[in-house]
Amino acid sequence: MPTLFTKIINREIPAKIVYETDKTLAFQDINPQAPHHYLIVPKIEIPTINDLTPETAHYIGELFLSAKEIAKQIGVDEKGYRVVMNCNAEAGQTVFHLHLHFLAGRAMHWPPG
Ligand code: 5GP
Repeated sequence: MPTLFTKIINREIPAKIVYETDKTLAFQDINPQAPHHYLIVPKIEIPTINDLTPETAHYIGELFLSAKEIAKQIGVDEKGYRVVMNCNAEAGQTVFHLHLHFLAGRAMHWPPG
């Protein structure tokens, strides 16, 4: 079964897409936690950080390069933004297709809840 995010990548489920490369897709989170809240996903199914391999690890760099471009595009690169990746249940992961949360547009707190 394709993951929810693969269905978004394949345009089988609608999403507000904000950025795309040949390796990644970024779209608005359906339940935004900040004025800008995007999910940046690899175009292959990697369930969690624990499933990364030396062969797929380069996707992490691709996700961060996309985050950098989105930050520039929406004008928060200097002001600030946060990227977060949850791994498994206790960290709050609910969709098991690796994704980087991109949050911006408000002051962030630390530590996160
Ligand atoms: P996680 O909790 O796994 O780190 O993040 C999953 C994220 O996916 C959540 O922030 C949730 O709001 C978002 N999400 C869940 N279902 C959908 C959907 O159908 N479309 C979009 N755009 N985001 C979704």
